Amino acid sequence: MFTLPPLTYPYNALEPFISSQTLEFHHDKHHQTYVNKLNEILAGYPEMLEMSVEMLLQSLEKAPENLKMPIINNAGQVYNHNLYWEILGPNAGGKPTGELAQKIESTFGTFEKFKEEFANLGLTQFGSGWAWLSVNSNNELIIEKTSNADSPIIRGKTPILTMDVWEHAYYLDYQNKRPDYIAAFWNVVNWKAIESKYLAALEK
Ligand code: MN
Repeated sequence: MFTLPPLTYPYNALEPFISSQTLEFHHDKHHQTYVNKLNEILAGYPEMLEMSVEMLLQSLEKAPENLKMPIINNAGQVYNHNLYWEILGPNAGGKPTGELAQKIESTFGTFEKFKEEFANLGLTQFGSGWAWLSVNSNNELIIEKTSNADSPIIRGKTPILTMDVWEHAYYLDYQNKRPDYIAAFWNVVNWKAIESKYLAALEK
């Protein structure tokens, strides 16, 4: 069975950038619903219920045809939200350091340029989706956007940073103003957590 990992910080930890109310609904209701739904659709498939959510998304070719889309939609959203909560945190923001900072500079020119390009992906994602920073199999940094529950992990990349641009991520705090949410997002990004994920991805 899949379970919802508890948040490692209190609901109000990301205020004033993301409200306590948003965090509680987003984690306890939206994320929980994807976990429940995933368990429901895999109820007759004990071997899939024993997999990690990452493994499930990386072995979609083994899933029955009629379950592929429901798995992408629900396991995708479980995985995407797990990562999102892990890379946010209180007393965060600022800049990456060390090897990740160097790699961002060599890939995008400057950290500011990276932020601009990443933010623009979130801004231009039509409808629901996510913006991503991932490591590919050549250890290169890739930024992209995906629709709905889709995730770069399905295509063999290792995501290290994600931004949820579904309306439920920001509507209570920013209503239709997605650019304001994206601007605020950088204040709660935990670069230490992302650096650890980057170093771990290089070891793969
Ligand atoms: Mn969400």
